[in-house]
Amino acid sequence: MKSPGIASLGFREAVQHFLETALLMDIPQSTRLYERACQSLATGVSSGIRRHATPSPMYYERADGPYFFDVDGHRFLDYTLAWGPLIVGSNHATLNARIAEQLSRGYTFGAQHRAEIEVAERLTQLVPGVEQVILSNSGTEAVQAALRLARASTGRAKFVKFEGHYHGWLNNVLVSYRPKASDPVETTPTCGGQPASEYADVISLPWNDLGALEQAFAKYPGEIAGVITEPILANSGSCLPEPGYLQGLVDLCRQHGAVSIFDEVITGFRIALGGAREYFGVQPDLSVYGKAIAGGFTLSAVGGKRAIFDVLRQGTTLHAGTYNGHPINLAAALATLEILSEPGTFARMHAHGQAIRAKLQSKSLATTGVGTIFSVHWGQKTPPKDYRATLQSDMASYTKFRLGMLEAGVLLLPDARWYVGAVHGEEQLAQVTSAIDKVLG
Ligand code: PLP
Repeated sequence: MKSPGIASLGFREAVQHFLETALLMDIPQSTRLYERACQSLATGVSSGIRRHATPSPMYYERADGPYFFDVDGHRFLDYTLAWGPLIVGSNHATLNARIAEQLSRGYTFGAQHRAEIEVAERLTQLVPGVEQVILSNSGTEAVQAALRLARASTGRAKFVKFEGHYHGWLNNVLVSYRPKASDPVETTPTCGGQPASEYADVISLPWNDLGALEQAFAKYPGEIAGVITEPILANSGSCLPEPGYLQGLVDLCRQHGAVSIFDEVITGFRIALGGAREYFGVQPDLSVYGKAIAGGFTLSAVGGKRAIFDVLRQGTTLHAGTYNGHPINLAAALATLEILSEPGTFARMHAHGQAIRAKLQSKSLATTGVGTIFSVHWGQKTPPKDYRATLQSDMASYTKFRLGMLEAGVLLLPDARWYVGAVHGEEQLAQVTSAIDKVLG
Protein backbone atom coordinates (compact mmCIF):
# COMPACT_ATOMS: atom_id res chain seq x y z
CA MET A 1 0.00 0.00 0.00
CA LYS A 2 1.51 3.34 -1.10
CA SER A 3 1.20 6.35 1.17
CA PRO A 4 2.38 9.94 0.69
CA GLY A 5 5.62 11.07 2.35
CA ILE A 6 4.91 12.12 5.93
CA ALA A 7 6.52 15.53 5.33
CA SER A 8 3.79 16.45 2.84
CA LEU A 9 0.95 15.80 5.30
CA GLY A 10 -0.89 18.22 7.57
CA PHE A 11 -1.08 17.47 11.31
CA ARG A 12 -4.39 15.62 11.14
CA GLU A 13 -3.30 13.53 8.15
CA ALA A 14 0.04 12.85 9.84
CA VAL A 15 -1.73 11.45 12.90
CA GLN A 16 -3.94 9.34 10.68
CA HIS A 17 -0.96 8.14 8.69
CA PHE A 18 0.84 7.22 11.91
CA LEU A 19 -2.15 5.26 13.19
CA GLU A 20 -2.67 3.48 9.91
CA THR A 21 0.97 2.59 9.60
CA ALA A 22 1.12 1.38 13.19
CA LEU A 23 -1.92 -0.77 12.59
CA LEU A 24 -0.68 -2.03 9.27
CA MET A 25 2.40 -3.37 10.99
CA ASP A 26 0.14 -5.16 13.42
CA ILE A 27 -1.95 -6.99 10.83
CA PRO A 28 0.68 -8.76 8.73
CA GLN A 29 -1.47 -11.84 8.06
CA SER A 30 -4.42 -9.75 6.89
CA THR A 31 -2.16 -7.67 4.68
CA ARG A 32 -0.63 -10.79 3.16
CA LEU A 33 -4.01 -12.44 2.60
CA TYR A 34 -5.31 -9.31 0.92
CA GLU A 35 -2.35 -9.24 -1.44
CA ARG A 36 -2.95 -12.90 -2.23
CA ALA A 37 -6.68 -12.32 -2.74
CA CYS A 38 -5.99 -9.57 -5.26
CA GLN A 39 -4.31 -12.15 -7.51
CA SER A 40 -7.46 -14.20 -8.05
CA LEU A 41 -10.44 -12.37 -6.56
CA ALA A 42 -11.07 -9.28 -8.67
CA THR A 43 -10.56 -6.27 -6.34
CA GLY A 44 -9.54 -8.65 -3.53
CA VAL A 45 -12.88 -8.26 -1.70
CA SER A 46 -16.44 -9.48 -2.21
CA SER A 47 -18.35 -6.20 -1.87
CA GLY A 48 -17.16 -2.95 -3.45
CA ILE A 49 -17.39 -0.88 -0.30
CA ARG A 50 -14.92 -3.13 1.59
CA ARG A 51 -12.20 -2.36 -0.92
CA HIS A 52 -11.23 0.99 0.57
CA ALA A 53 -11.12 -0.27 4.15
CA THR A 54 -8.48 1.38 6.31
CA PRO A 55 -5.93 0.48 7.51
CA SER A 56 -6.42 -2.39 5.01
CA PRO A 57 -9.15 -4.98 4.35
CA MET A 58 -8.98 -7.27 7.38
CA TYR A 59 -9.46 -11.03 7.55
CA TYR A 60 -11.37 -12.80 10.28
CA GLU A 61 -11.01 -16.33 11.48
CA ARG A 62 -14.10 -16.65 13.62
CA ALA A 63 -16.70 -14.75 15.62
CA ASP A 64 -18.30 -15.51 18.95
CA GLY A 65 -21.08 -13.50 20.58
CA PRO A 66 -20.13 -9.82 20.10
CA TYR A 67 -16.46 -10.56 19.31
CA PHE A 68 -14.61 -10.96 16.01
CA PHE A 69 -11.21 -12.70 15.96
CA ASP A 70 -8.85 -11.71 13.15
CA VAL A 71 -6.11 -13.79 11.56
CA ASP A 72 -3.43 -11.79 13.41
CA GLY A 73 -4.62 -12.87 16.83
CA HIS A 74 -6.67 -9.79 17.81
CA ARG A 75 -10.06 -9.93 19.48
CA PHE A 76 -12.38 -7.05 18.57
CA LEU A 77 -15.60 -6.01 20.25
CA ASP A 78 -17.86 -5.62 17.25
CA TYR A 79 -20.26 -2.74 16.65
CA THR A 80 -20.53 -3.33 12.89
CA LEU A 81 -22.67 -6.46 13.27
CA ALA A 82 -21.53 -7.31 9.72
CA TRP A 83 -23.35 -4.13 8.54
CA GLY A 84 -26.46 -5.02 10.51
CA PRO A 85 -27.44 -8.68 10.26
CA LEU A 86 -25.72 -10.04 13.39
CA ILE A 87 -28.34 -8.65 15.76
CA VAL A 88 -28.06 -11.62 18.13
CA GLY A 89 -24.31 -12.01 17.59
CA SER A 90 -22.34 -15.00 16.35
CA ASN A 91 -22.22 -18.62 17.46
CA HIS A 92 -25.62 -18.30 19.14
CA ALA A 93 -26.65 -21.65 20.63
CA THR A 94 -30.29 -21.41 19.50
CA LEU A 95 -29.42 -20.43 15.95
CA ASN A 96 -26.74 -23.11 15.74
CA ALA A 97 -29.13 -25.80 16.96
CA ARG A 98 -31.96 -24.83 14.57
CA ILE A 99 -29.64 -24.58 11.60
CA ALA A 100 -27.99 -27.92 12.41
CA GLU A 101 -31.42 -29.49 12.71
CA GLN A 102 -32.44 -28.16 9.30
CA LEU A 103 -29.11 -29.19 7.73
CA SER A 104 -29.83 -32.81 8.56
CA ARG A 105 -33.33 -32.53 7.06
CA GLY A 106 -32.34 -31.00 3.72
CA TYR A 107 -30.38 -28.07 2.34
CA THR A 108 -32.96 -26.77 -0.06
CA PHE A 109 -35.92 -28.19 -1.94
CA GLY A 110 -36.76 -25.69 -4.65
CA ALA A 111 -40.26 -26.48 -3.48
CA GLN A 112 -42.60 -25.89 -0.57
CA HIS A 113 -41.89 -26.67 3.08
CA ARG A 114 -43.40 -25.78 6.45
CA ALA A 115 -40.90 -23.11 7.51
CA GLU A 116 -42.08 -20.84 4.68
CA ILE A 117 -45.51 -20.73 6.23
CA GLU A 118 -44.16 -20.39 9.75
CA VAL A 119 -41.93 -17.43 8.81
CA ALA A 120 -44.71 -15.76 6.81
CA GLU A 121 -47.12 -16.20 9.72
CA ARG A 122 -44.56 -14.87 12.19
CA LEU A 123 -43.90 -11.79 10.08
CA THR A 124 -47.59 -11.03 9.78
CA GLN A 125 -47.96 -11.39 13.56
CA LEU A 126 -44.98 -9.17 14.38
CA VAL A 127 -45.29 -6.32 11.91
CA PRO A 128 -48.31 -3.99 12.16
CA GLY A 129 -50.34 -3.86 8.97
CA VAL A 130 -48.42 -6.63 7.20
CA GLU A 131 -50.97 -9.21 6.09
CA GLN A 132 -48.87 -11.10 3.57
CA VAL A 133 -45.24 -11.38 2.50
CA ILE A 134 -43.03 -12.63 -0.29
CA LEU A 135 -39.57 -14.01 0.44
CA SER A 136 -36.25 -13.53 -1.31
CA ASN A 137 -32.56 -13.48 -0.43
CA SER A 138 -31.03 -10.01 -0.36
CA GLY A 139 -32.24 -6.51 0.32
CA THR A 140 -31.29 -5.52 -3.22
CA GLU A 141 -33.61 -8.16 -4.65
CA ALA A 142 -36.51 -7.43 -2.32
CA VAL A 143 -36.37 -3.70 -3.19
CA GLN A 144 -36.72 -4.63 -6.87
CA ALA A 145 -39.67 -6.89 -6.06
CA ALA A 146 -41.37 -4.04 -4.18
CA LEU A 147 -40.80 -1.62 -7.08
CA ARG A 148 -42.19 -4.16 -9.55
CA LEU A 149 -45.26 -4.68 -7.37
CA ALA A 150 -45.78 -0.90 -7.26
CA ARG A 151 -45.43 -0.59 -11.03
CA ALA A 152 -47.56 -3.63 -11.84
CA SER A 153 -50.37 -2.60 -9.51
CA THR A 154 -50.50 1.04 -10.66
CA GLY A 155 -49.66 0.54 -14.34
CA ARG A 156 -47.21 3.46 -13.97
CA ALA A 157 -43.45 3.57 -14.56
CA LYS A 158 -41.90 6.38 -12.53
CA PHE A 159 -40.83 6.18 -8.92
CA VAL A 160 -39.40 8.61 -6.40
CA LYS A 161 -36.28 8.03 -4.35
CA PHE A 162 -34.41 10.39 -2.06
CA GLU A 163 -30.87 11.71 -1.99
CA GLY A 164 -28.38 9.72 0.05
CA HIS A 165 -30.75 6.75 0.44
CA TYR A 166 -29.35 3.34 -0.46
CA HIS A 167 -31.61 0.65 -1.85
CA GLY A 168 -29.08 -1.84 -3.19
CA TRP A 169 -26.56 -1.73 -5.99
CA LEU A 170 -28.76 -2.13 -9.08
CA ASN A 171 -28.91 0.53 -11.78
CA ASN A 172 -32.35 1.97 -11.14
CA VAL A 173 -31.77 2.64 -7.44
CA LEU A 174 -28.04 3.37 -7.18
CA VAL A 175 -28.69 6.97 -8.18
CA SER A 176 -28.40 10.29 -6.31
CA TYR A 177 -26.64 8.29 -3.65
CA ARG A 178 -23.51 10.35 -3.02
CA PRO A 179 -23.88 13.67 -4.89
CA LYS A 180 -21.50 16.48 -3.98
CA ALA A 181 -22.78 19.53 -2.11
CA SER A 182 -22.34 21.59 -5.29
CA ASP A 183 -24.38 19.17 -7.47
CA PRO A 184 -27.98 20.05 -8.32
CA VAL A 185 -30.67 17.76 -6.88
CA GLU A 186 -31.31 15.41 -9.78
CA THR A 187 -31.05 11.74 -10.68
CA THR A 188 -27.38 10.99 -11.21
CA PRO A 189 -25.60 7.64 -11.53
CA THR A 190 -23.18 6.56 -8.82
CA CYS A 191 -20.71 4.54 -10.89
CA GLY A 192 -19.80 3.49 -14.41
CA GLY A 193 -22.04 1.03 -16.24
CA GLN A 194 -25.28 2.77 -15.37
CA PRO A 195 -26.90 3.84 -18.66
CA ALA A 196 -29.38 6.71 -18.38
CA SER A 197 -32.13 4.51 -19.88
CA GLU A 198 -32.08 2.45 -16.67
CA TYR A 199 -32.87 5.35 -14.37
CA ALA A 200 -34.92 7.47 -16.79
CA ASP A 201 -38.03 6.84 -14.69
CA VAL A 202 -36.48 7.75 -11.36
CA ILE A 203 -37.25 11.09 -9.74
CA SER A 204 -34.71 12.02 -7.06
CA LEU A 205 -35.73 14.42 -4.33
CA PRO A 206 -34.36 15.85 -1.10
CA TRP A 207 -35.62 13.94 1.95
CA ASN A 208 -37.62 15.26 4.89
CA ASP A 209 -39.28 17.74 2.54
CA LEU A 210 -42.98 17.10 1.92
CA GLY A 211 -43.19 20.19 -0.29
CA ALA A 212 -40.68 18.67 -2.74
CA LEU A 213 -42.71 15.46 -2.89
CA GLU A 214 -45.94 17.37 -3.41
CA GLN A 215 -44.34 19.28 -6.28
CA ALA A 216 -43.19 16.02 -7.91
CA PHE A 217 -46.72 14.63 -7.79
CA ALA A 218 -47.97 17.89 -9.33
CA LYS A 219 -45.32 17.79 -12.06
CA TYR A 220 -45.97 14.14 -13.03
CA PRO A 221 -49.74 13.65 -12.51
CA GLY A 222 -50.76 9.99 -12.77
CA GLU A 223 -47.22 8.88 -13.62
CA ILE A 224 -45.63 8.01 -10.28
CA ALA A 225 -45.98 4.33 -9.34
CA GLY A 226 -44.31 4.54 -5.95
CA VAL A 227 -42.16 6.39 -3.46
CA ILE A 228 -39.37 4.51 -1.70
CA THR A 229 -37.67 5.75 1.45
CA GLU A 230 -35.50 4.54 4.28
CA PRO A 231 -37.65 5.45 7.33
CA ILE A 232 -34.47 6.49 9.16
CA LEU A 233 -31.75 7.64 6.78
CA ALA A 234 -29.39 5.03 8.17
CA ASN A 235 -27.18 4.97 5.07
CA SER A 236 -26.39 8.68 5.31
CA GLY A 237 -25.82 9.80 8.87
CA SER A 238 -28.81 8.04 10.52
CA CYS A 239 -30.95 11.18 10.13
CA LEU A 240 -34.40 10.92 11.69
CA PRO A 241 -37.60 11.78 9.86
CA GLU A 242 -39.15 15.09 10.95
CA PRO A 243 -42.29 14.57 13.04
CA GLY A 244 -45.17 13.82 10.65
CA TYR A 245 -42.91 13.39 7.62
CA LEU A 246 -43.38 9.63 7.13
CA GLN A 247 -47.15 9.83 7.62
CA GLY A 248 -47.25 12.81 5.25
CA LEU A 249 -45.34 10.80 2.64
CA VAL A 250 -47.74 7.85 2.95
CA ASP A 251 -50.76 10.20 2.79
CA LEU A 252 -49.46 11.96 -0.33
CA CYS A 253 -48.94 8.59 -2.01
CA ARG A 254 -52.51 7.53 -1.19
CA GLN A 255 -53.85 10.85 -2.43
CA HIS A 256 -52.07 10.40 -5.77
CA GLY A 257 -52.64 6.66 -6.23
CA ALA A 258 -48.96 5.77 -5.72
CA VAL A 259 -47.55 2.96 -3.60
CA SER A 260 -45.58 3.99 -0.50
CA ILE A 261 -42.57 1.77 0.23
CA PHE A 262 -40.48 1.78 3.40
CA ASP A 263 -37.09 0.21 2.80
CA GLU A 264 -36.67 -1.37 6.23
CA VAL A 265 -33.62 -3.43 5.34
CA ILE A 266 -31.84 -1.66 8.20
CA THR A 267 -34.69 -0.54 10.47
CA GLY A 268 -36.71 -3.78 10.29
CA PHE A 269 -36.43 -5.94 13.44
CA ARG A 270 -33.87 -3.40 14.63
CA ILE A 271 -35.59 -0.24 15.82
CA ALA A 272 -38.55 -2.30 17.08
CA LEU A 273 -39.78 -5.83 16.53
CA GLY A 274 -42.29 -4.34 14.09
CA GLY A 275 -39.64 -1.99 12.61
CA ALA A 276 -40.51 1.54 11.57
CA ARG A 277 -44.20 0.67 11.28
CA GLU A 278 -44.25 0.04 15.02
CA TYR A 279 -41.63 2.63 16.05
CA PHE A 280 -43.19 5.56 14.17
CA GLY A 281 -46.77 4.22 14.08
CA VAL A 282 -47.00 4.66 10.30
CA GLN A 283 -48.14 2.00 7.84
CA PRO A 284 -46.95 2.32 4.25
CA ASP A 285 -48.32 0.08 1.48
CA LEU A 286 -45.15 -2.03 1.34
CA SER A 287 -42.14 -2.62 3.56
CA VAL A 288 -38.88 -4.30 2.60
CA TYR A 289 -36.88 -6.36 5.11
CA GLY A 290 -33.41 -7.91 5.13
CA LYS A 291 -30.31 -7.91 7.35
CA ALA A 292 -31.49 -8.49 10.96
CA ILE A 293 -34.47 -10.61 9.91
CA ALA A 294 -32.39 -13.80 9.84
CA GLY A 295 -29.51 -12.97 12.19
CA GLY A 296 -26.74 -13.24 9.59
CA PHE A 297 -28.37 -15.52 7.01
CA THR A 298 -29.55 -14.40 3.61
CA LEU A 299 -33.25 -13.78 3.87
CA SER A 300 -35.21 -10.76 2.69
CA ALA A 301 -38.93 -10.12 2.49
CA VAL A 302 -41.52 -7.68 1.21
CA GLY A 303 -44.65 -7.25 3.30
CA GLY A 304 -47.91 -5.36 2.99
CA LYS A 305 -51.67 -5.64 2.80
CA ARG A 306 -53.02 -8.71 1.07
CA ALA A 307 -54.46 -6.70 -1.84
CA ILE A 308 -51.07 -5.37 -2.93
CA PHE A 309 -50.05 -8.91 -3.87
CA ASP A 310 -53.10 -9.42 -6.11
CA VAL A 311 -50.96 -8.73 -9.18
CA LEU A 312 -48.85 -11.79 -8.30
CA ARG A 313 -51.86 -14.00 -7.60
CA GLN A 314 -53.49 -12.91 -10.84
CA GLY A 315 -50.28 -13.59 -12.72
CA THR A 316 -50.04 -10.02 -14.05
CA THR A 317 -46.48 -9.92 -12.77
CA LEU A 318 -43.85 -12.31 -11.48
CA HIS A 319 -41.57 -12.77 -8.51
CA ALA A 320 -39.18 -15.76 -8.58
CA GLY A 321 -35.83 -17.12 -7.38
CA THR A 322 -34.06 -20.47 -7.07
CA TYR A 323 -33.19 -19.79 -3.45
CA ASN A 324 -36.41 -18.08 -2.35
CA GLY A 325 -37.67 -19.61 0.88
CA HIS A 326 -34.33 -21.31 1.51
CA PRO A 327 -34.79 -23.67 4.50
CA ILE A 328 -31.52 -22.78 6.26
CA ASN A 329 -32.24 -19.06 6.10
CA LEU A 330 -35.77 -19.61 7.31
CA ALA A 331 -34.58 -21.74 10.23
CA ALA A 332 -32.23 -18.88 11.14
CA ALA A 333 -35.05 -16.35 10.80
CA LEU A 334 -37.41 -18.30 13.06
CA ALA A 335 -34.70 -18.59 15.73
CA THR A 336 -33.68 -14.91 15.42
CA LEU A 337 -37.27 -13.67 15.64
CA GLU A 338 -37.84 -15.90 18.67
CA ILE A 339 -34.80 -14.43 20.45
CA LEU A 340 -35.78 -10.86 19.52
CA SER A 341 -39.32 -11.49 20.78
CA GLU A 342 -38.11 -12.10 24.34
CA PRO A 343 -39.64 -9.36 26.54
CA GLY A 344 -37.35 -6.41 27.19
CA THR A 345 -34.94 -7.14 24.33
CA PHE A 346 -35.53 -3.92 22.39
CA ALA A 347 -35.57 -1.75 25.52
CA ARG A 348 -32.20 -3.25 26.51
CA MET A 349 -30.68 -2.78 23.06
CA HIS A 350 -31.86 0.83 22.82
CA ALA A 351 -30.59 1.61 26.35
CA HIS A 352 -27.17 0.22 25.42
CA GLY A 353 -26.97 2.38 22.29
CA GLN A 354 -28.24 5.46 24.11
CA ALA A 355 -25.55 5.00 26.76
CA ILE A 356 -22.87 4.96 24.04
CA ARG A 357 -24.43 8.03 22.45
CA ALA A 358 -24.43 9.82 25.82
CA LYS A 359 -20.74 9.04 26.20
CA LEU A 360 -19.98 10.39 22.71
CA GLN A 361 -22.13 13.47 23.36
CA SER A 362 -20.22 14.08 26.58
CA LYS A 363 -17.21 14.60 24.28
CA SER A 364 -19.13 17.38 22.46
CA LEU A 365 -19.97 15.18 19.48
CA ALA A 366 -23.36 15.14 17.76
CA THR A 367 -25.14 11.83 17.31
CA THR A 368 -28.21 11.02 15.24
CA GLY A 369 -30.54 8.04 15.05
CA VAL A 370 -31.90 5.77 17.77
CA GLY A 371 -30.30 3.41 20.26
CA THR A 372 -29.93 0.43 17.96
CA ILE A 373 -28.70 2.32 14.89
CA PHE A 374 -27.01 5.67 15.16
CA SER A 375 -24.23 7.79 13.68
CA VAL A 376 -21.66 10.06 15.27
CA HIS A 377 -20.70 13.38 13.68
CA TRP A 378 -17.63 15.51 14.12
CA GLY A 379 -17.97 19.21 13.37
CA GLN A 380 -21.79 19.37 13.53
CA LYS A 381 -23.39 21.69 16.09
CA THR A 382 -26.87 20.28 15.51
CA PRO A 383 -27.77 16.79 14.33
CA PRO A 384 -28.07 16.75 10.50
CA LYS A 385 -31.56 16.23 9.06
CA ASP A 386 -30.82 15.10 5.52
CA TYR A 387 -28.07 13.87 3.23
CA ARG A 388 -26.75 17.31 2.25
CA ALA A 389 -26.39 18.31 5.89
CA THR A 390 -24.32 15.19 6.61
CA LEU A 391 -21.75 16.42 4.08
CA GLN A 392 -20.64 18.92 6.73
CA SER A 393 -19.52 16.10 9.04
CA ASP A 394 -15.74 15.87 9.43
CA MET A 395 -15.07 12.31 8.31
CA ALA A 396 -11.28 12.61 8.63
CA SER A 397 -11.64 13.10 12.38
CA TYR A 398 -14.05 10.18 12.54
CA THR A 399 -11.55 7.96 10.69
CA LYS A 400 -8.85 8.91 13.16
CA PHE A 401 -11.22 8.03 16.01
CA ARG A 402 -12.22 4.74 14.36
CA LEU A 403 -8.60 3.69 13.95
CA GLY A 404 -7.94 4.58 17.58
CA MET A 405 -10.92 2.46 18.61
CA LEU A 406 -9.58 -0.40 16.49
CA GLU A 407 -6.32 -0.18 18.39
CA ALA A 408 -8.34 -0.20 21.60
CA GLY A 409 -10.05 -3.41 20.43
CA VAL A 410 -13.38 -2.05 19.16
CA LEU A 411 -14.50 -2.58 15.59
CA LEU A 412 -16.53 0.22 13.96
CA LEU A 413 -17.85 0.88 10.47
CA PRO A 414 -16.06 3.34 8.15
CA ASP A 415 -19.12 5.55 7.70
CA ALA A 416 -19.63 6.45 11.40
CA ARG A 417 -22.72 4.26 11.74
CA TRP A 418 -23.01 2.09 14.88
CA TYR A 419 -25.07 -1.08 15.05
CA VAL A 420 -26.16 -2.24 18.51
CA GLY A 421 -27.66 -5.68 19.06
CA ALA A 422 -29.07 -8.04 21.65
CA VAL A 423 -25.56 -9.43 21.89
CA HIS A 424 -24.22 -6.28 23.59
CA GLY A 425 -24.45 -6.31 27.39
CA GLU A 426 -23.04 -4.54 30.45
CA GLU A 427 -19.55 -5.95 29.98
CA GLN A 428 -19.40 -4.64 26.41
CA LEU A 429 -20.77 -1.25 27.47
CA ALA A 430 -17.97 -0.89 30.03
CA GLN A 431 -15.43 -1.92 27.40
CA VAL A 432 -16.65 0.44 24.69
CA THR A 433 -17.10 3.47 26.95
CA SER A 434 -13.64 3.06 28.42
CA ALA A 435 -12.22 2.73 24.87
CA ILE A 436 -14.00 5.99 23.94
CA ASP A 437 -12.47 7.69 26.99
CA LYS A 438 -9.07 6.37 26.07
CA VAL A 439 -9.25 7.43 22.43
CA LEU A 440 -10.93 10.81 22.96
CA GLY A 441 -9.10 11.62 26.17
N1 PLP B 1 -31.75 -1.20 1.44
C1 PLP B 1 -31.06 -0.68 2.46
C2 PLP B 1 -31.69 0.40 3.30
C3 PLP B 1 -29.77 -1.12 2.75
O1 PLP B 1 -29.09 -0.58 3.76
C4 PLP B 1 -29.23 -2.16 1.96
C5 PLP B 1 -27.88 -2.66 2.22
O2 PLP B 1 -27.12 -2.15 3.00
C6 PLP B 1 -29.98 -2.68 0.89
C7 PLP B 1 -31.25 -2.18 0.67
C8 PLP B 1 -29.43 -3.77 0.04
O3 PLP B 1 -29.41 -4.95 0.78
P1 PLP B 1 -28.39 -6.12 0.40
O4 PLP B 1 -27.02 -5.60 0.66
O5 PLP B 1 -28.81 -7.25 1.29
O6 PLP B 1 -28.63 -6.43 -1.04
